[in-house]
Amino acid sequence: MAIHKIKVKDLFARQPIPALKAEHLAQPLPSNAAEGDLLHLTDKFGRGIGTALYGLQPRSVGWLISKQALASADSSFFAHKFANAFEKRLRFLQNAKTDVFRIFNAEGDGIGGLTLDYYDAHILISYYNAGIYAHRDAVRKGVLQNADCKSIVEKKRFGESPDGVVVYAKAPNTPESPDAAESPNTPETPDLLICRENDVRFKIDLIHGGMTGIFADQREVRKLIRNSLAKGKKVLNLFSYTAMFSVFAALGGARSTTNVDLARRSHEWAKENFKHNGLDPSRHSFITEDAFRFLERAAKNGESYDLIVIDPPSFSTSSYGTFSAEKGIRTLTELSLKVASRRAVMIISTNHSQITPEKFRKSLPESLHIVREFSLPADYRVAHDFPESSYLKVAVCTRK
Ligand code: SAH
Repeated sequence: MAIHKIKVKDLFARQPIPALKAEHLAQPLPSNAAEGDLLHLTDKFGRGIGTALYGLQPRSVGWLISKQALASADSSFFAHKFANAFEKRLRFLQNAKTDVFRIFNAEGDGIGGLTLDYYDAHILISYYNAGIYAHRDAVRKGVLQNADCKSIVEKKRFGESPDGVVVYAKAPNTPESPDAAESPNTPETPDLLICRENDVRFKIDLIHGGMTGIFADQREVRKLIRNSLAKGKKVLNLFSYTAMFSVFAALGGARSTTNVDLARRSHEWAKENFKHNGLDPSRHSFITEDAFRFLERAAKNGESYDLIVIDPPSFSTSSYGTFSAEKGIRTLTELSLKVASRRAVMIISTNHSQITPEKFRKSLPESLHIVREFSLPADYRVAHDFPESSYLKVAVCTRK
């Protein structure tokens, strides 16, 4: 992979941020530059600023990966970054109740466009651009130098298919893993794992599609629901996916949960998650419908819920046309208020990186009062000089 010397504008030179954007460049990239190449960035006087890895994402052309002029991004470079990141997750690795968490969080750990997630010693590597993907052999070696893992699965989160590919699997019952046969997770294939979060069990599939069955970044919210918000409540979970908010609510003593999602497959998965925790799914409702349409119907029928979770994707197509979290949050919350009991608690969330916390708060109806907020948990380390890396916004609200 080649190295190119590139001048950047003063603004970036004075205060470099992790994302290198097209508007930061003071000269065009050479026509022979290929994603994966290293860019030695300099200011207008030719003084070195650091090294960026060239890889195109919707809002960036590359990521600053070092303050030095790197000669290459080899496996020892990645191994060093991973060693630092893993050390910061020791308390997660030692937590006996939870075995799903993030062990390398892109620019928060020094390499944008790359994340590593831990699923009970199965490691999922996600590549968000072709540049970092071009270094996958070195990335994989860097992981194996630091982690004694059961398998490594890679996903390309750009291009055509986000399906996972198993690139490493430890042979079961080898002398290095004498207790593999007793593992509660057998059969251990990355398309069927049973993992845990705060002692709650759920199915994980690292292979099919872009999502794995859980969004670990909502861990603290699920805990709050189980421990403090659910008891005796009628719960409505919109965009429920595998219904993990509802499983926690049911374990916390919810009277019922109603789960709404457009994807029928997600409900089958959700029911399995209920069963994995000794809960009877037939006591809960699973509705395959557009969330907006459901809310209109429920309002007409005079339905009423005490705890409503609104956690939509950033973009989706619905009967209201194309949903974008930016406008959709207010509409969804207003519609939800029509089926909310007087003392209802509403949990509203977005992971859209372009919605700032201020914009998010402003998008909530004035009739609501925010009683608690959540952002990313500690394993999702953020880059403090790059606020959009702190993408998760969650508001727990009541009526004023
Ligand atoms: N809240 C979930 C994650 C949601 S993922 C959790 O905590 O695990 C987004 C989900 O929204 C997907 O399952 C998708 O099928 C669903 N979805 C997308 N558009 C929708 C719509 N208009 N109405 C209902 N569900 C929708």
